[in-house]
Amino acid sequence: MDQIEQERESWRNKAKEVAKNIVAPRAAEIDETGEFAWDLVQEYSKQGFLSLLIPKEYGGMDTDITSFCIIVEELAKVCASSALLVIVQAVGTMPVVFGGSNELKERVLLPLAKEGKLICFCLTEPESGSDAASVRTKAVFKENHYVINGRKCFITNGGVADFYSVFATTLPEKRIEGITGFIVAKGTPGLSIGKTEEKMGIRGSNTTEVILEDVKVPSAHRIGEEGAAWWQMMRTLNRSRPAIGAQAVGLAQGALDYLVRYIQEKEWTKGKEDRAGTQFMLADMAVEIEAARALVYKAAYMMDEKVKGTPVQMFSAMSKYFASDVAMKVTTNAVEVLQCQGLTKSHPLERMMRDAKVIQIFEGTNQIQRMVVAHTLLK
Ligand SMILES: Cc1cc2nc3c(=O)[nH]c(=O)nc-3n(C[C@H](O)[C@H](O)[C@H](O)COP(=O)(O)OP(=O)(O)OC[C@H]3O[C@@H](n4cnc5c(N)ncnc54)[C@H](O)[C@@H]3O)c2cc1C
Repeated sequence: MDQIEQERESWRNKAKEVAKNIVAPRAAEIDETGEFAWDLVQEYSKQGFLSLLIPKEYGGMDTDITSFCIIVEELAKVCASSALLVIVQAVGTMPVVFGGSNELKERVLLPLAKEGKLICFCLTEPESGSDAASVRTKAVFKENHYVINGRKCFITNGGVADFYSVFATTLPEKRIEGITGFIVAKGTPGLSIGKTEEKMGIRGSNTTEVILEDVKVPSAHRIGEEGAAWWQMMRTLNRSRPAIGAQAVGLAQGALDYLVRYIQEKEWTKGKEDRAGTQFMLADMAVEIEAARALVYKAAYMMDEKVKGTPVQMFSAMSKYFASDVAMKVTTNAVEVLQCQGLTKSHPLERMMRDAKVIQIFEGTNQIQRMVVAHTLLK
């Protein structure tokens, strides 16, 4: 095994330990209460899971995308909400890593890496979800600062973050070339949290509106040049979508593992496991999960190796939608195999099924991912 493979295995082992000993015993309760798991923030911070894509010079782990996916997959096997915490931190961080000045990186990345601080990614608005190019949040330059006004919605960690990566338009007529990123720190006057969403799935993740009313942000907190945010966001999403795929693969694998163990151990299934219907379902689940995993790690590999001439955005989109569709199918069929039992909270399968639905929708809907693939093919 070469050094990179050893490092990846070591991340896998660490994530497995945390998943088994710390996350799994909390998963049902996190779903039931919908409360944000501050204890996991502390643990993840200690393990380096909250600074995976932050360069070493700013105190981070500087892992590759493959390791990022491995960690997410292992955590998602027991709790998809808790795996999302790792992804969102990376998504909020990447625009700063790609575009921020050294001063901004020190101001933001160091506390994220060293003090367990949290960051969120504020793009979606009530009138612009899939159509991200039409953000209405406005940033107006005044002397040495900007004044931001707008309303963001469905922001993961909106109510618990210390830093907000906010995307606003500085030149609305320029559409994507007019979008600029800013870092807004918690407590800045005019920044407030609106509605907290009560979701059917991924309930342990905090999802809120973020309201910006005359929020004054120093120019030094602008992420890169004016109009550079589209490129920063696309680079970010190309890297995070395989991780969302890994979250889906982990979730599906967790459901299948549970089902197989249950069928093997429990008296009441005696005889039922021999039925062809059940066997075919189990076989299809295993095959589809392996196929999704192969696609996720292919996308991650392309990103890590910077494979020339390959449309990474296409593989990234493929991995997100294929893996989350597989997770939806696998978890639905896992509930189906256990029938009445599958519907109850005596088993984690109904939670997993609800979580899978959410993964199909966020980080760009699966319909939009299909459009990315088709556009790339036809280009
Ligand atoms: C749990 C959760 C967490 C989230 N976290 C974040 C976050 O941290 N930060 C953030 O910025 N956002 C976040 N989001 C927002 C998420 O990314 C958006 O909800 C998603 O992109 C879809 O936007 P929408 O809900 O406005 O759907 P819409 O864009 O209104 O889409 C509605 C439907 O129309 C389809 N559609 C839209 N446009 C087209 C088109 N051109 N062609 C074909 N079909 C189309 C869509 O696929 C969908 O089926 C989160 C969402 C959820 C549910």
